[in-house]
Amino acid sequence: MKAALLYGINDLRLEDIDVPSINDDEILVKNRKSFVCGTDVRMLKNGNKNITPGKGIIIGHEFSGIIEKVGKNIKGYSKGDRVFIAPNIGCGTCVYCISGNSHMCNDYQAFGIHIDGGFSEYVKIPVKAIMHGNVIKLSNSVSFSEAALVEPFSCVYNGFERAQISPGDTVLIQGAGPIGIMHAKLAKMAGASKIIVSDVLKERLEMVKNIDPSFITVLSVDVRKEVNILTRGIGIDVSITACPSPEAQSLSVELGAVNGRIIFFGGLPESKQNVPLNTNIIHYKQLIVSGTSKASLGQIHKSVKLLESNLIQLKDLISAEFPIGNVQLAFDKAIEAKGLKYGITFER
Ligand SMILES: [Zn+2]
Ligand SMILES: [Zn+2]
Repeated sequence: MKAALLYGINDLRLEDIDVPSINDDEILVKNRKSFVCGTDVRMLKNGNKNITPGKGIIIGHEFSGIIEKVGKNIKGYSKGDRVFIAPNIGCGTCVYCISGNSHMCNDYQAFGIHIDGGFSEYVKIPVKAIMHGNVIKLSNSVSFSEAALVEPFSCVYNGFERAQISPGDTVLIQGAGPIGIMHAKLAKMAGASKIIVSDVLKERLEMVKNIDPSFITVLSVDVRKEVNILTRGIGIDVSITACPSPEAQSLSVELGAVNGRIIFFGGLPESKQNVPLNTNIIHYKQLIVSGTSKASLGQIHKSVKLLESNLIQLKDLISAEFPIGNVQLAFDKAIEAKGLKYGITFER
């Protein structure tokens, strides 16, 4: 089978390797769709400390496919089932895992980071992933492309749940990448009256407008001024920072409406993690400031349901898809960062 293995910094190799064999407690998935994520690009640029030198690891953690083989001890799954694989496998016994927060587990294993992942024609699913509920069956109403996007979408869903958007709220999303646009889509579904999306790049804002003309797009330099006009000085009910920018975090506090909620969704580079915030605004305006990271398995399952119901569509976030033979091209495009999501397809 064809697979893309990462051996080290800027050392991604397309190889022909054996299809993994499975034991009686495992599942083999024939992959149908994978997406390149920012995490993959960072691993390509900075390396991955989990790689054994000379051995390489199949990267990719956003993928969906069809069950090809089921170990004889595994119940509830059959050959032909369409599935999405939640990539992070918690240890199962720590305080986070037992409280339904396996995404906070310190001892987790992830497809494409610790174990072989999704840029490969077949993926072996270990017993722990099956028993923890990481193998999620899909109805026919969701495409493999949209299902593979459940991973980033579920992280957005986590932020969305915490933001508590009510019908009529004014929402500001700073950062118009795929994540920011997913936030905007959920805000619209929740009934937000104004959804303002900002970015430093004009081209990104044009993409946002093409996806949904009802989103109000604003260049980052104009956010302060435009929010004042659009809200008549009242401010923003829900602010979400979908970018690695300390300035965006400060600004979201500055622009908060009374009882506003702020979600720091995008993490910051280590060198910029101490951010000046006017905490008096938080105090006097009763703001709730929170962060979210990754998604719980429960949120992942709910995200699948949302996509199956067609309440949310993600097709329009896909800029291009390439056959696995052109995996390098997909990475080049992702690094160029002119589009949104770049996918990998596999022969049927
Ligand atoms: Zn991802
Ligand atoms: Zn754990």
